[in-house]
Amino acid sequence: IVALRDVHKSFGSFEVLKGIDLEVMKGEVICIIGPSGSGKSTLVRTINGLTPVTSGSVTVEGQEVHDAKLDKLALRRKVGIVFQQYNLFPHRTVLDNIMMAPLLVLREKRDDVEERARALLAKVKLIDKEDAYPAELSGGQQQRVAIARSLCMRPDVMLFDEVTAALDPETVKEVLVTIKELASDGMTCVLVTHEMGFAREISDRVYFTDHGRIVESGPPDAIFECPQDPRTREFLSKVL
Ligand code: ATP
Ligand code: MG
Repeated sequence: IVALRDVHKSFGSFEVLKGIDLEVMKGEVICIIGPSGSGKSTLVRTINGLTPVTSGSVTVEGQEVHDAKLDKLALRRKVGIVFQQYNLFPHRTVLDNIMMAPLLVLREKRDDVEERARALLAKVKLIDKEDAYPAELSGGQQQRVAIARSLCMRPDVMLFDEVTAALDPETVKEVLVTIKELASDGMTCVLVTHEMGFAREISDRVYFTDHGRIVESGPPDAIFECPQDPRTREFLSKVL
């Protein structure tokens, strides 16, 4: 459903991605791990077109993402992204936050969107918070609203970039549970995470990146039990 072929990305003379090849099948969950600055965020941002590539190809459902002729709106609907900073609209209620994009961007009927938004709130276990404002919620609750907001666009792929990195340890778990449920419902997920236990538990495949390259990839047990590359071994020995 997602394919990257020899993707390069430079910021000025600094090459952040140095030829990334990566494929994600429908319903698959992959995790990208690696040191800070290795290009993980840049990589996931190329998948929904947020970061333009310097060369190479990125396709989602066979469509080239970085094709100027491509309907960016369609792509944005297809690929949801959730960041470390949840960026909810502070002056809108939880329900409004979730409904905004389908109403304004997709111009869907309010009744349809509202029904879907409530179902998603139930899914992320925040049904009693629909009239709350973001500031009245914990970080973990806000992050779950952000996930529901993204899901309300009915994406085919979800990208998660360190969505628990800014949270208190107690609230990390509830967000991870939400993602896990989503994955077991069959959502295709690409996750960047520093939660190694979670990566191991949830993913079908793990990619280790270093200095803009995928150094190693494989099933989680193989990567975590017997990493082949010395850089992977060194990284894991520091974080595990
Ligand atoms: P972290 O684990 O800290 O989030 P990361 O693996 O996500 O790191 P990226 O955010 O992809 O790393 O950044 C990779 C490199 O690209 C970094 O050296 C960063 O400074 C640089 N970089 C990222 N975005 C830009 C930008 N818009 N302009 C210039 N340099 C950038
Ligand atoms: Mg990052």
